[in-house]
Amino acid sequence: MSERVAVVTGGSRGIGRAIAIRLAQEGARVIVTYVHGEKAAYEVIGKIKAEGGEAYAYQFDVSDYEATQKAFENIFDKFGRVDYLINNAGITKDNLIMRMKEQDWDRVIEINLKGAFNCIKAVVRPMLKQKFGRVVNISSVVAFMGNIGQANYVASKAGLIGLTKALAKELAPKGITVNAVAPGFIETDMTAGLSDKIKGYMLEMIPLKRFGKPEEVAETVAFLVSDAAAYITGQVIHVNGGMYV
Ligand code: NAP
Repeated sequence: MSERVAVVTGGSRGIGRAIAIRLAQEGARVIVTYVHGEKAAYEVIGKIKAEGGEAYAYQFDVSDYEATQKAFENIFDKFGRVDYLINNAGITKDNLIMRMKEQDWDRVIEINLKGAFNCIKAVVRPMLKQKFGRVVNISSVVAFMGNIGQANYVASKAGLIGLTKALAKELAPKGITVNAVAPGFIETDMTAGLSDKIKGYMLEMIPLKRFGKPEEVAETVAFLVSDAAAYITGQVIHVNGGMYV
């Protein structure tokens, strides 16, 4: 992967952090993006540099179209190219539909789904020109199973699957692959706040009888961007311990 440039949105924490570290270990120059977690983002780039890799942090909100285009302009000015785009940034704002506020619906869709669109728009022309690109969208097992109290989140993650399939067909002739990874229950800040009752219920649904680690998702992303996966596009790889089969 040497000389390849990777952008990992939401690379400051959790799954994105693990993806950034893993891609750097493969020799990619890694751009970690964040919105609020400056300290966490610099911790990640510090770790990558300490391991002999190359990493940079960029702050922007993926849901802000203009800010995202501007940030990528700066990235292209500095690096000249983006080879891998990992659309990982995401949030939850859970509630039963009866209680879900309109702004909570909008915010989750804006970040999780439109955020991916905003980033893809920023890289697609240069990727078409360079006739190479790998886009990996981080979806979720709930896009396939549904989940009570997550109508907004599930809709955003199912939307990412549709986006993945449409773009895979559209961009394949130009050497760009677009795939999705659908993690199950992964131990990160996003899941840390769930009650023991919910965690116990989730564990019962996982045949491998444990939660996943961010590194296990990162491994799949590293495969999808590698030359070994050159003939894979429009696919969803499930990393869920058998929770959904
Ligand atoms: P996390 O620990 O909560 O980290 C979320 C990351 O997204 C952070 O780096 C955060 O940046 C960034 N982010 C949030 N809003 C953003 C915005 N508006 N613009 C740019 N960046 C933003 O989450 P995670 O568990 O690692 O999840 C990563 C992805 O995997 C998400 O898309 C999530 O839906 C998906 N996923 C997670 C699980 C799971 O069990 N954990 C399962 C399936 C899918 P800051 O540090 O600046 O806040």
